[in-house]
Amino acid sequence: ARTATAQTTPADPCCEAPLPVLGGDVTVPLVTGGEVTYAALDYAASAPALQRVWDDVAAYAPYYGSVHRGAGYLSQLSTDLFENSRATVAAFLDCREGDQVVFTRSTTDSLNLLAAALPAGCEVFVFETEHHASLLPWRDARVTYLDAPRTPDEAVRTLERALADRDPSPSSRLRSSGGGPNGPALVCVTGASNVTGELWPVRELAAVAHAHGARIVLDAAQLAPHHPVSVRELDADWVAFSGHKLYAPFGSGVLAGRSDWLREAEPYLAGGGASRKVTRRPREAGGGVDVEWHDTAARHEAGSPNVIGVYAIASACKALTEAGFESLVARERRLIAAVREGLAEVPAVRVLSLFGDDAPRVGVISFVVDGWNSSHFAAALSAEYGIGVRDGLFCAHPLVRTLLGSDADEPGECGAPEAAPGEKSLNAIRVSFGAGT
Ligand code: PLP
Repeated sequence: ARTATAQTTPADPCCEAPLPVLGGDVTVPLVTGGEVTYAALDYAASAPALQRVWDDVAAYAPYYGSVHRGAGYLSQLSTDLFENSRATVAAFLDCREGDQVVFTRSTTDSLNLLAAALPAGCEVFVFETEHHASLLPWRDARVTYLDAPRTPDEAVRTLERALADRDPSPSSRLRSSGGGPNGPALVCVTGASNVTGELWPVRELAAVAHAHGARIVLDAAQLAPHHPVSVRELDADWVAFSGHKLYAPFGSGVLAGRSDWLREAEPYLAGGGASRKVTRRPREAGGGVDVEWHDTAARHEAGSPNVIGVYAIASACKALTEAGFESLVARERRLIAAVREGLAEVPAVRVLSLFGDDAPRVGVISFVVDGWNSSHFAAALSAEYGIGVRDGLFCAHPLVRTLLGSDADEPGECGAPEAAPGEKSLNAIRVSFGAGT
């Protein structure tokens, strides 16, 4: 019977070893003397570089040249690296035929680009729980801020209600055109929270958005490093993510998805590379210049691009795909369980959660410690134990305040607002990890 059980037990897909990274676990000298072995557990802010990314970049960095702007070998090589990287990212995201992959500086940049490309009159729907990068770029449009849901189902119902209020006629339902009888609409949602790590029901939200003729953009900054992201399966119209959270810390990001809104919009930046043809207007016609813009991704990539950053992203996409998300996810699940069990043993610790303890999540866990100022606690973790975490409101002020039950309108940008020692915490501590942990 024992043999039979062993034969029918599915193989554990978990890979035992972390992917090699730089700076994940390093020995650093202390100013006060001595040294400490440092554990970087702030992946959600910036993940350490994969060794593979570092090696790939090092192999080509000496041959750096200008992209799309030269006949010489270095320029050709850089152009190939850049355009091949676009194809790699499209494959990594399982993009549809005709989708565009635009290279940006970061998720923030990607979402601001999309915000600048919204069609006239576009309404935007966004949960107030979003990271500021997905909460704030839309402020020039008509924005509906949706209340914090306490379950994934409630998130879907909340969006359904908001879109139905806008477009009450079932007969007018258009699929995925981005335009209903009331004009175009966009829903912006995160895939995994940078505060709680909880996964959001992206596919269900996309279905609701499309049923009401709205489009949806997925902020995958915290999802893509931990889970496969298929544009096709999720039916997301756009996806945005950052290289530096995906083990590729060289200053590039991605906006991928439908080309129509991007093609019809004014270029995000005006300049060389975005323009196909520039002609002088006759003096009699008032002078000046006329411009024909590219209608490819280049339209929004004016100026010399960050070829190293883009190549690093492609290298990370390949490394993660080759390692296999199935085993990465299984391994991370074990780490999450271990961290949560450890935290549960400390009575003073309260883990922050929107959707409850059993919600599926990535390796991002925020908590407060009764009687401790979170900033002091995080500083002590670093100084005393060599553990680098983040403290603060994590650029998601409304969400963290909701979770802390604090309406206090305390100062604090992305850093930590101060509370006197012993006072109720106005901010939290976040530990985050991933494939290199
Ligand atoms: N979205 C989420 C969910 C994030 O966690 C972050 C960064 O923490 C961002 C967007 C912004 O990313 P970036 O700073 O790389 O633009």
